[in-house]
Amino acid sequence: MYCSRVVDDRVTPGSQTSLREANRARIVNAVQQRGSLTQVELAGLTGLSPATVSNIVNELTGSGVLHTSPTTRSGRRAQQVTLARNLGLVAGLHFGSRSLRVALSDVAHRIVAEQRLPLAPDHRADAGLQRAAMLAEEMVASVGATMPEVLAVGVGIPAPVDVRTGKVATRGLLRGWDGVPVAEVLGGLLATPVHIDNDANLGALAEQRLGAARGRRHVVYLRVSHGVGGGLVLGGEVYRGRIGAAGELGHVTIDDNGTVCRCGNRGCLETFVGAGAILETLRGSHGHLALRDVITRAEQGDPGCRRVLSDAGRHLGIAAASVCNVIDPEVVVIGGQLAEAGEMLLGPLRATLGERTIPSAAGPVEVVQGELGPSAEVRGALAIALDRVSIPIGMVTS
Ligand SMILES: [Zn+2]
Repeated sequence: MYCSRVVDDRVTPGSQTSLREANRARIVNAVQQRGSLTQVELAGLTGLSPATVSNIVNELTGSGVLHTSPTTRSGRRAQQVTLARNLGLVAGLHFGSRSLRVALSDVAHRIVAEQRLPLAPDHRADAGLQRAAMLAEEMVASVGATMPEVLAVGVGIPAPVDVRTGKVATRGLLRGWDGVPVAEVLGGLLATPVHIDNDANLGALAEQRLGAARGRRHVVYLRVSHGVGGGLVLGGEVYRGRIGAAGELGHVTIDDNGTVCRCGNRGCLETFVGAGAILETLRGSHGHLALRDVITRAEQGDPGCRRVLSDAGRHLGIAAASVCNVIDPEVVVIGGQLAEAGEMLLGPLRATLGERTIPSAAGPVEVVQGELGPSAEVRGALAIALDRVSIPIGMVTS
């Protein structure tokens, strides 16, 4: 019942009919990526005239592909356009260093279920993937759906991923996952197409499409939790580099003589600002704390906790400044659990960036907290799954 063609292959240009098809595809693709848009926004994004947008939206609503509902924009009445929810579901999975998050959404970007499970440190890929598959199947059943209704699955992994092979692209960074064909194994367990990417790339994509960097084309995203990941959006697209290792800001050198990092180098950013490093710094003075406790105490004025957060901001600023001098982004978005520290972290980060980046006539680069919080990566996983779903626009008769 569901068409499984790749989105970009659906149209052959040339005739009047194919022009109409191409216009339908532009509209469906825009709604597929953004979730919901007004007709005016659709016209702006696709470059089509308001009359053409209105005609096509009417056709596709009539044929059950799109759904419209009344809304308001800037105090004026408007029609909000989404994909029809009954076209199917997609699943997003995010394997963090210590937890697994699974979300289900309909094709209209409405999250219908979301769950988080703790994972043992250094868990193995086979056990993690089996737990993830079982949880996803349970969640699909809990919303009254069946697995064939899940059209695609997106997966985020906290290590560089070669998206062509669906494997972790480096050795030693994610113990127990080296060389595992994640997309193939999970695709076999779930009997659904699975697409994988690095988790910070997915966070960057989600913040750029749906969150704090909406509408921006050049974005640096830093995810600071137990580990430190980074993602780059250049010209509106996630930049992955040769094997998927682009944007690995956690392994930028801060101190040549520093502690040895899990990647094998010394003094990487992660050895300064990862949760492990922050908690270790406070162990002597504050005992055993969780990262959440550090942020809460800092908010209450604890000088030691405030100090480690401002140091972390400065160290993030040093690494981010190098990247900003290379790619000149519009915005630096900070995600992951440490971002919950807000201005205690972002203030020193901004000051360091100001000192270390080339002065610009456009002013300093903007530094903001992510808007999607701990769900950013799983939202990105849903986005890459949704991108791969082909919506059957061809069934419309004109
Ligand atoms: Zn490292």
